[in-house]
Amino acid sequence: MIIGCPKEIKNQEYRVGITPSAAFEAVHHGHNVLIETNAGVGAGFSDADYEAVGAKIVAKASDIFEQSEMVVKVKEPQAVERKQLRKGQVLFTYLHLAPDPEQTKDLLESGVTAIAYETVTDRNGGLPLLAPMSEVAGKLAPQVGSWALQRANGGRGVLMGGVPGVSPAKVVVIGGGNVGTHAARVAAGMGADVTVLDMSLDRMRYLDDVFGGTFKTSFASKSNTLDLIATADMVVGAVLVPGAAAPKLISRAELAGMKPGAVLVDVAIDQGGCFETSKATTHDDPIYEVDGIVHYCVANMPGAVARTSTIALGNATMPFMLQLANKGWKQACSDNPHLMAGLNTHAGKLTYAAVGTALGIES
Ligand code: NAD
Repeated sequence: MIIGCPKEIKNQEYRVGITPSAAFEAVHHGHNVLIETNAGVGAGFSDADYEAVGAKIVAKASDIFEQSEMVVKVKEPQAVERKQLRKGQVLFTYLHLAPDPEQTKDLLESGVTAIAYETVTDRNGGLPLLAPMSEVAGKLAPQVGSWALQRANGGRGVLMGGVPGVSPAKVVVIGGGNVGTHAARVAAGMGADVTVLDMSLDRMRYLDDVFGGTFKTSFASKSNTLDLIATADMVVGAVLVPGAAAPKLISRAELAGMKPGAVLVDVAIDQGGCFETSKATTHDDPIYEVDGIVHYCVANMPGAVARTSTIALGNATMPFMLQLANKGWKQACSDNPHLMAGLNTHAGKLTYAAVGTALGIES
């Protein structure tokens, strides 16, 4: 199969859909891999890195779209890219169609067979192509939060690990899933005093079994939440209610009960945010202050560490990409129901019910 990877064109997107390592695997399986020139530069991969593993560098994105039987990307195709997709071609990338009627319409009109990373499943009921980005964002949260805690950035001027004779920072993580667990581990690793709040007793049993001693858990009742945020230096928002906007767990009025200069890192901002005062920010201008509380609300946190994120995503997507290339999408999806769960559009038809429900389109 001819597999093509254009350079990402979405603003501030530095990741790339195929790593040299994934290109090597595909070439090894007898496929032709086309990479747009400089597609990997933002993630630290040169054209020479791809050529060394047998991929071909192509000058223009339009040639990638024209020649490829499967296009592999990171972000949803932008309008100019969507115009170049066609029936019989496979698109494998993040799509997030439910809130995006315009993209959905264009993909249906193009007839492309679109397989969305975010709806591919695994045997434990998880989302294996979303998990690596949650792991990245979770690990990044205490890192960016500790920067925001510095006095010059408006924070309380508290060092995460303290020093001998001075207590460490108190960190509260709301939501102990993928993001929250990684955030808690890193915050604890920096020496902070960490508590994870969750509604799921099963999840807290798991966290206690595995991480007891490294961080504490607490049931996410309103009173526990208010008690804990009152003494917190940093609060990380990491909740997810599948298919719904994030619940607002701290109101503006409740900020008054927090210490001045405390930091809120709202990782759930891509689902609307879990603090009433959250609004999406960018890597260029990541923080702002409301009532003396510093907010960090970047919606695409993994973009800050494009190289790590690209490699993590490539590790997760590569086995699925190979199945699609080796067997063709029809056979690959019929052999693997988890890959089939990723199929969102085919030949002008919507094939993912939740998107149809969200957009009022028959599926
Ligand atoms: P997850 O499903 O693994 O974990 C969510 C956790 O939240 C679960 O343990 C659940 O029990 C808990 N929860 C749900 N409602 C709660 C409540 N009211 N109080 C306390 N806990 C509650 O999800 P995840 O992969 O960890 O993702 C968390 C959020 O981070 C999502 O909104 C996701 O989209 C977002 N995210 C953002 C970025 C970014 O760049 N900003 C990157 C990756 C993920």
